[in-house]
Amino acid sequence: MYKKNILIKKRCICGGNLKEEINFGKLPLINDFKKVKTIKYPTIISQCPKCFLVQLKYAVKDSLIFPKNYSYLSADSDEKIKDYKDLIAKISSRFLRYKPMIVDIGGNDGSLMQIAKKRNFSEMNIEPTNVANISKERGIKTLKKKFNSRTANDLKKKNYYLISLFLLIFLHILII
Ligand SMILES: [Zn+2]
Repeated sequence: MYKKNILIKKRCICGGNLKEEINFGKLPLINDFKKVKTIKYPTIISQCPKCFLVQLKYAVKDSLIFPKNYSYLSADSDEKIKDYKDLIAKISSRFLRYKPMIVDIGGNDGSLMQIAKKRNFSEMNIEPTNVANISKERGIKTLKKKFNSRTANDLKKKNYYLISLFLLIFLHILII
């Protein structure tokens, strides 16, 4: 039943052949654990021996992972917010003097960019789901779009992004 919605990743984005490391069996998609009847997907962690990127062997269609009504919010995790503050502090100490714009790909509710904005970065959150509206309401510059080559080229034309963050993105998307 799930097979039409998955792609088996045999190669890493760098071209390396992926090697299976951990098999978690079949699991529901994120935020779908409470439903009684739910589709479960094989969850196998692979690693690339060439660049060491850890990623899922079976990639589920992004329209299922990121539905229009996405319920996960970064702001719900105190640990995540603490990590975000640490990350922005590190980036700030190295790069803020260059006054770069910082862009968060798949930035959810804008929590990370809100911290960056408070540190005087120019910020941009690119988020395709409904939680982009929360980001906008927080006053974060937000592009409610899927990040793909077209979006990247549009940003490149504007020529003002220096720092791009992809937190937990590469490991489960199919195509950039
Ligand atoms: Zn690789």
